[in-house]
Amino acid sequence: ENERLRLPPWLKTTIPTGSKFSELKKQLRSLKLSTVCEEARCPNIGECWSGGKHGMSTATIMLMGDTCTRGCMFCSVKTSRAPPPLDPDEPFNTAHAIKQWGLGYIVLTSVDRDDLPDGGSAHLAETVREIKRQNTEILVECLVPDFRGSLDSVATVANSGLDVFAHNIETVERLTPFVRDRRAGYRQTLKVLKTAKDINPDLITKSSIMLGLGETDEQVEQTMKDLRSVGVDCLTLGQYMQPTKRHLRVQEYVTPDKFAEWERRGTELGFLYTASGPLVRSSYRAGELFISSLLK
Ligand code: SF4
Ligand code: SF4
Repeated sequence: ENERLRLPPWLKTTIPTGSKFSELKKQLRSLKLSTVCEEARCPNIGECWSGGKHGMSTATIMLMGDTCTRGCMFCSVKTSRAPPPLDPDEPFNTAHAIKQWGLGYIVLTSVDRDDLPDGGSAHLAETVREIKRQNTEILVECLVPDFRGSLDSVATVANSGLDVFAHNIETVERLTPFVRDRRAGYRQTLKVLKTAKDINPDLITKSSIMLGLGETDEQVEQTMKDLRSVGVDCLTLGQYMQPTKRHLRVQEYVTPDKFAEWERRGTELGFLYTASGPLVRSSYRAGELFISSLLK
């Protein structure tokens, strides 16, 4: 076994600032809404919540509970074969809280619910519709599971009125069986992304790759091309961080320069935007980057 790698200086986290950030934080206190941004102590919270020059603040919330039916080797969410049932009031309550919060862009993520016949797709779609009903201005991104490849479930979400359909490929094809739950698959992910686009060509589709798991440059390049080949519009690349001792070791801390190279490569390959950096997460400045790429 190799030694655990030392944390490089560029992964030291920054202190959030900005008046929009403080304002949102204050408002959040009075709402019953917990964000992934705060719970995961995400280092990007200052940038995301401030929203950059267009004021497009972004936050991420998790739906369908805190317990996943899968167990990916990079993820610290707790696992159970039979998580508690869905909360039927979640779509309304979530939409209501978001409305009072005044965000520009919301990312709805969720655990995988293989225990439910439709994987929770109807619940997600209802949440999107309720958010859009109560907040006509907000942009909605769903970061969805693979629904075991069910095209019906993908269609349910793709036709819900959302703006961005995101599904993460996570890693290169060769490492997929060692990194993701065995029920997930590289080809299945490409199929889910392709299906969403085929069903609703107006949708922006998006995916994300973690680096530092032992992938080669050629494999990363191939993964980017595979995503483009199914029409994926937006790409994020970030450093894999080991959440606990029981999870996969980091094989490499990829340098900021290397991440910048991938960002340039993404632009060459025709992605609408590529966000690539050591601290980038799949929802990183999503609202701001979305708006900026449309104004280009
Ligand atoms: Fe929140 Fe995602 Fe931004 Fe982190 S990267 S602060 S989780 S929106
Ligand atoms: Fe974590 Fe998602 Fe894998 Fe569940 S499916 S273990 S939430 S990465």
